[in-house]
Amino acid sequence: MHLPIIVGGGGLVGLLTMRELHKLYPKKDKALLEKGHYFGDLASGRNSGVLHAGLYYPLDSLKRKYCLEGNLLWESLANELGISFKRCGKFLVASSKEEVPALVELFDKAKANGVQGLRWCSDTEKDEISIYCFVEKAFFSPMSGIISPSEATTKIRDDLYKSDIPLMPDYSIEEVTKDGDKFIVRTSRETFTCDIFVNAIGGFAPELRKGLGLRDIESFWVKGNYVKLNIPYYNKALIYPVPPKDLLGLGVHTSFDMDGVIRFGPDTEDCEKGYEHSVSEDIIEKMYPSISNLFKGIQKSDLKADYCGIRSKIFLNGKLYPDFWLGDPTVHNVSGYYEFLGIESPGLTASPALAKAMAERIQLTLG
Ligand SMILES: Cc1cc2nc3c(=O)[nH]c(=O)nc-3n(C[C@H](O)[C@H](O)[C@H](O)COP(=O)(O)OP(=O)(O)OC[C@H]3O[C@@H](n4cnc5c(N)ncnc54)[C@H](O)[C@@H]3O)c2cc1C
Repeated sequence: MHLPIIVGGGGLVGLLTMRELHKLYPKKDKALLEKGHYFGDLASGRNSGVLHAGLYYPLDSLKRKYCLEGNLLWESLANELGISFKRCGKFLVASSKEEVPALVELFDKAKANGVQGLRWCSDTEKDEISIYCFVEKAFFSPMSGIISPSEATTKIRDDLYKSDIPLMPDYSIEEVTKDGDKFIVRTSRETFTCDIFVNAIGGFAPELRKGLGLRDIESFWVKGNYVKLNIPYYNKALIYPVPPKDLLGLGVHTSFDMDGVIRFGPDTEDCEKGYEHSVSEDIIEKMYPSISNLFKGIQKSDLKADYCGIRSKIFLNGKLYPDFWLGDPTVHNVSGYYEFLGIESPGLTASPALAKAMAERIQLTLG
């Protein structure tokens, strides 16, 4: 079957890209092919559910740009589709004198990034959170918030179904190659051809592009585990540490869902067993030092191993590439091919902005 447009991958990035493409090209036939039986089951459904404000990223990075834009876009999307959303804000906390210079540096960077409403905490605020964590100095980011990724995925999926867009679960894309102007998309069920192919298959995206002769980028997966807290705790705002210097993650922090259930995580763990989601038996033992370093009053017996997610990082020509990668024909010379690579955190926050940006790039080709 020939379709003008195929999107590979039904995580939030793929679903939202399809939504943007449908707005631009309502009459063109298109399909979204998803390997899993459900949409949003990988990174999109296995994260902290935090809408980041854009504190951490370099000024000229795509992460900063699309995080700030995506944070605002989620608010309108949530209102439009009835997705629960809370701008609860977040405290960034230095738990010792040694961490204060790094916290000040983060505050200055966040200000320069254009994050709105940042302020140093008053003594009263410090007193309030110091019941729960060790606070030497802290600042508050009111633009940070939470969303339910699973509810968001369901509501976006249903919105696409309403527009009669074929969303095809259980279609694993095995290979994409090019024959003249057309792509040949071989799946576990049938083979399609298309004119525009969007690669949004998350952690597997670098492997798929090799069929098109693009071999400069490799995947680097880093697992992040969560533990659930069984006792009532502070859930008015998020509490984050000063991020570790290795930049593999943001440091173990609190996250909570719409019901206020607290989780700590995610840590960083090698994906020795490949892309799989088992959580090790001794995760509480392993994570406890990072938790008790910042948070007060938590016993190991208050914690229960929960879920994990896998960060989709990338190596470009053998070096860790720290930013999102949005590839289009001006970047790689394969006409009609568009790709999202390295969409790790803040990819949930950024996803509506990434989708818009890619649709605009495609419009430059298709008109
Ligand atoms: C531990 C962790 C915590 C995070 N916390 C946050 C956070 O709090 N805030 C934030 O903004 N971001 C966060 N992120 C990042 C965010 O979750 C991701 O950036 C985002 O979900 C990426 O979405 P995606 O659609 O690109 O990838 P995915 O959700 O992984 O979607 C890719 C889809 O492609 C499908 N697929 C794979 N192979 C094939 C194939 N061969 N054929 C067809 N389909 C295929 C998969 O089944 C999957 O559904 C976190 C990530 C992790 C791992």
